[in-house]
Amino acid sequence: MKKTRYLWRALSVLGVLGLCFFMAAGVAGHWFEKRLSQNGPVDGGIAATQPRNRLCLIFALDGVPYDLIKELYMEGYFKGFFPPGRLVSTFPSLTRPAFSKMLVGGKPFGYERLYYNFADNKVEGFQLSQKLFSTHKKHADYQPELHFFGFPGYIAYIFPDTFAQTALDAFHEQLLAFKGDQFIAYMGLSDPIAHVEGRAALKEFLKKVSAMLETTRNDLGILMDVVLFSDHANNLMENRRVDLSAELERNGFHDVDQLEQLRDFVLPRNGFVSFASIYTRPENAPAMAEILSSIEGVDFSTYKYQKVIRVHGHNGLAEIARQENRYRYTPIKGDPLKLGNIMMYLKQAGKMDNQGYIHDYMWWDATKDHLYPDPLRRIWEGQSDLVQHPGTLLVSFQDGYAFGPAIFNQPLVGNRAGTHGALLATHSNGVFMTDFMKVDDFNQPSAVVELLAEAQEAKKRGTKLFPFMQ
Ligand SMILES: [Zn+2]
Repeated sequence: MKKTRYLWRALSVLGVLGLCFFMAAGVAGHWFEKRLSQNGPVDGGIAATQPRNRLCLIFALDGVPYDLIKELYMEGYFKGFFPPGRLVSTFPSLTRPAFSKMLVGGKPFGYERLYYNFADNKVEGFQLSQKLFSTHKKHADYQPELHFFGFPGYIAYIFPDTFAQTALDAFHEQLLAFKGDQFIAYMGLSDPIAHVEGRAALKEFLKKVSAMLETTRNDLGILMDVVLFSDHANNLMENRRVDLSAELERNGFHDVDQLEQLRDFVLPRNGFVSFASIYTRPENAPAMAEILSSIEGVDFSTYKYQKVIRVHGHNGLAEIARQENRYRYTPIKGDPLKLGNIMMYLKQAGKMDNQGYIHDYMWWDATKDHLYPDPLRRIWEGQSDLVQHPGTLLVSFQDGYAFGPAIFNQPLVGNRAGTHGALLATHSNGVFMTDFMKVDDFNQPSAVVELLAEAQEAKKRGTKLFPFMQ
């Protein structure tokens, strides 16, 4: 009798919670719809004086892995496109640095929204009230010139599906109403869907994207050239939260908000990603990297050491040195980036100079299909000038592990369906494809910029937007 009563009580509580959830989702969806239509289509500039006969759509899809688009392509989706290629992200494989390299330009303050500023001695970059419901990506550090912004703020990570069809419908309408000749769009919803709901849901969403593109193409009445790309991938598997701080604290370091004492460190907690940046005095880095290398789930960490960058992981310790456009990889103990065989091959092929350096395009060619694509250049950039406030140590995780706020220890919290941020190919290999030219199988972030620069040049010359397309 008692049991039944408890059961009923539990069921009614669940029912009320469910109802609240659906009402909240409905209100949020309606709010997003209004905001999207308020944003309105932006005029492309030349429309008023010149009738256009061709529209180029630059379409950035957040967090979509190459493999999934390839699978859909083989199943007949994304009709009219040339086969997709991989777009290898930055390290870390996160939106801000990757997106700024691929399209936007400028330099983000940090790798994610929260970063530590040494000069001000504080963590900066987050205002919850502004960010939770923000449909604009207003960053003083880098500002994309976007005609469409399909991301309803961080609320999307609570119920991403609610916004999906609304965003795609608005996209379709705004593209049809647009009068310019180059429409730049960012669809952020694919990222929360991948993080929270995983592979099957992301695949369903991408089918809708494919259908939306086809409908738009039919409704537009003029030719449409599409460049579609993503900023990074997603491992689309369950990931366990790693507690970095506890192990460092056990070894005499102190997790703080402001650096005061010698062994203090700041560790910003952002989303649930397979990457972390630690800010501390440079002299702490070697000892901290040693401790980090023993933590389950940590693949390796990197830090500046005199004139080189050290990589210290569970597979050993190595140094990366750079001279202009050439990189040298020197294993000290083991081979943390698993480059031994590749290096031997390049040396035997006569690609290594007598100081041990190899040109970056040769490294690129030899490692683009590696477990860690293009690792030396990406680590070097990530540790030096990718963002305005680089971390002292950058931590890359193994598949199945991630870092973020402690709330991700709770079994009921979502974000378990997939993540990204690490140097691994499964986290880094986004997609790059067009419907007017074949792209390479592997591409660097600069490929998007180069393609668009070429289009701009063509426009200036008064020739076709993409003259190489016939
Ligand atoms: Zn992203």
